[in-house]
Amino acid sequence: MNMRAQKPIPQPKQKVNVDLKDAETMKCGECENTIFIQGYVVKKISAILSPTGQEVIAPIQVFNCGNCGTMLPLGGELDELI
Ligand SMILES: [Zn+2]
Repeated sequence: MNMRAQKPIPQPKQKVNVDLKDAETMKCGECENTIFIQGYVVKKISAILSPTGQEVIAPIQVFNCGNCGTMLPLGGELDELI
């Protein structure tokens, strides 16, 4: 009886080949600076509102212009958790 185990089909690694030449460089809406500083807005969800019944600290990543400090709008609402 030939019970050769089937070779698992190798999953090709999904390479994300993005040509950054085609990518848009985001600029500060205020001063057109293109360097941003990574920061966090930290939300505190009170125990009453939290689904777990415990106080939750939720950091939300934001980017600020390194020149004038204006937050980069990424489309999401700050009230949305990651
Ligand atoms: Zn700026």
